[in-house]
Amino acid sequence: MCTVLYSTGVYRLYRSVQSRQNRGEPETVILNYHRIGGRQFDAHVRVLLRHYRIVPLHELVERSARREPFPVPTAILTFDDGNRCCYTDVLPVLTRYHVPASIFLTTGYVGTPRLLWFDAVEHGMMHTTRVTLSCAGTVYPLRTVGERRRAAQMIVEHLKQAEEAVRLREVDDLLAFLGVSPDGPTAGPYRCLSWEQVREMAAAGVEFGGHTVTHPILTRVPVGQADREIGESKAAIQTHVGTPVRHFAYPNGRVGDFNDEIIGLVKRHGYACALSTIPGRWAPEDDLFALRRVIVTENTGASALMVKLSGLWDQMRHLLASGKLSQKNRE
Ligand SMILES: [Zn+2]
Repeated sequence: MCTVLYSTGVYRLYRSVQSRQNRGEPETVILNYHRIGGRQFDAHVRVLLRHYRIVPLHELVERSARREPFPVPTAILTFDDGNRCCYTDVLPVLTRYHVPASIFLTTGYVGTPRLLWFDAVEHGMMHTTRVTLSCAGTVYPLRTVGERRRAAQMIVEHLKQAEEAVRLREVDDLLAFLGVSPDGPTAGPYRCLSWEQVREMAAAGVEFGGHTVTHPILTRVPVGQADREIGESKAAIQTHVGTPVRHFAYPNGRVGDFNDEIIGLVKRHGYACALSTIPGRWAPEDDLFALRRVIVTENTGASALMVKLSGLWDQMRHLLASGKLSQKNRE
């Protein structure tokens, strides 16, 4: 459906209507990636450059201070967690097209072979030889890549509710059941960057921001721990890279994953902005410490990306949910 919407002109029409409704202010979107392959990211950047200017995050912070919109449609590229693909797949594309990006590092994992717990779950699901998994009363089929990805997403959402110690034990048990080692050769793409890679990318113009040390949901840990997580990730990057760190991304980043107390800590540590994963586009009057983003997954195609960024996809979903489009037109 996205390819049809994008290629038939519906997309262009929708954007021009949006622009008029938006007092003519060009749209500004902050994209939120985690892991992505080089070929897919190359396709994304090529289609983005047809419709948007890609600028560094610090330009948005400067415009925010002046309450000034961007003069043309603008996109900002951000990556959370600092997986190794940022170096192997993303950096070559950034260099090829001379586009800026920000990467938010979970600094306790940088330069270590350890996997973030949710990456360990996905790694296990994608590389197991088992074809079904029974977990918390649900049986997940694991025959196709899609089924494996869906199972991983649902189990990650389930495990987010658990206490950290319980969660880590359950992840270990899960990997043991799946017969997948977090140290094996297939774990490579799920690992994080090394500090050497971070320094090389910083020298190439990539901005680095804090994303805590161990990736806790900050409203679910004692405030003292949240304070250390926010401050120490900033200090680690400054020490290893040697440049000031001004931007922060909340782990998980949804409504309820940060609050006024957490925002206060982020400000106290000298960050100039903080990014959520609450969906939406940027407006000059937005709170710089609750910036909204559009999440882009590794299986988002180039047409789907453009339709998603324009807001057209959300409109379609709204229409579908309200029954204004018939079932047969959904695919
Ligand atoms: Zn994250």
